[in-house]
Amino acid sequence: MDTILITGASRGIGRALALACAETGRFRKMILVARQSREALAEVCRRIAAFSPETRCCPALGDAGDLAFVERLRRDYGPVGILVNNAAISLTGLLTDLSPSQWDGILRTNLTSLYNTCHTFVPDMVRAGGGRILNVSSVWGQAGASCEVAYSATKGAVDAFTRALARELAPSHITVNAAAPGIIDTEMNARLTEAEKEEIRGEIPAGYIASPEEAAAAMLKLLEMPEYFNGQVVQINGCWP
Ligand code: NAD
Repeated sequence: MDTILITGASRGIGRALALACAETGRFRKMILVARQSREALAEVCRRIAAFSPETRCCPALGDAGDLAFVERLRRDYGPVGILVNNAAISLTGLLTDLSPSQWDGILRTNLTSLYNTCHTFVPDMVRAGGGRILNVSSVWGQAGASCEVAYSATKGAVDAFTRALARELAPSHITVNAAAPGIIDTEMNARLTEAEKEEIRGEIPAGYIASPEEAAAAMLKLLEMPEYFNGQVVQINGCWP
């Protein structure tokens, strides 16, 4: 369990989780994937080197929704003990305005990417006799959000994928859990105006929008849970919505 792959690690929650993992000093190898932003990914690796000089950081730019890219990661960097499927995109608008290619694109990024990484990396975990998979869902996977039907549908599917794969892999001592954040202060929410954020803050019983570091701290704890904690979708949401 001293090797980890995190998708979507150039910014936001994935970046914060990569840094939190590095701070533990427990990781021998970290494969960090992002769609673009070579420089941002390199900066995360520089920070990791400062925390944990022993860690081999492998930055990888590409599309987690592309199976050939994920298979190349396996060939280039070898197996991992921990897999975090964090990369996703959001799309806001009426379902009736969503084009078929937008629909395909969000499914590919938010859901097919899980198939790609699990299909590629699980056989190594089975051979190794254990592993940890953490998928990043959203509160909208359960509640459903108006004007985010495609996003909500992909996250609902992530929840079902998590529960089903956990049952399939439990006999191999591999756990599959999901973190379902509420609203976190990342670029994914850059479209929100200050007034809209203020309105949302007013609805959140905890009274604030969480930082990516707080979400990552909770996710790190989920990665450290014992084997019997399996097939769970854990909300990290300040009691919202
Ligand atoms: P973000 O937009 O800040 O970062 C997304 C990361 O994913 C980036 O590193 C980007 O390069 C990468 N990425 C996007 N598409 C990719 C692809 N096809 N292949 C590889 N990498 C890709 O997002 P965030 O807010 O940090 O979100 C991280 C996760 O948390 C996502 O699964 C998101 O759905 C979930 N989430 C976020 C919030 C929130 O309020 N920010 C709430 C609930 C759930």
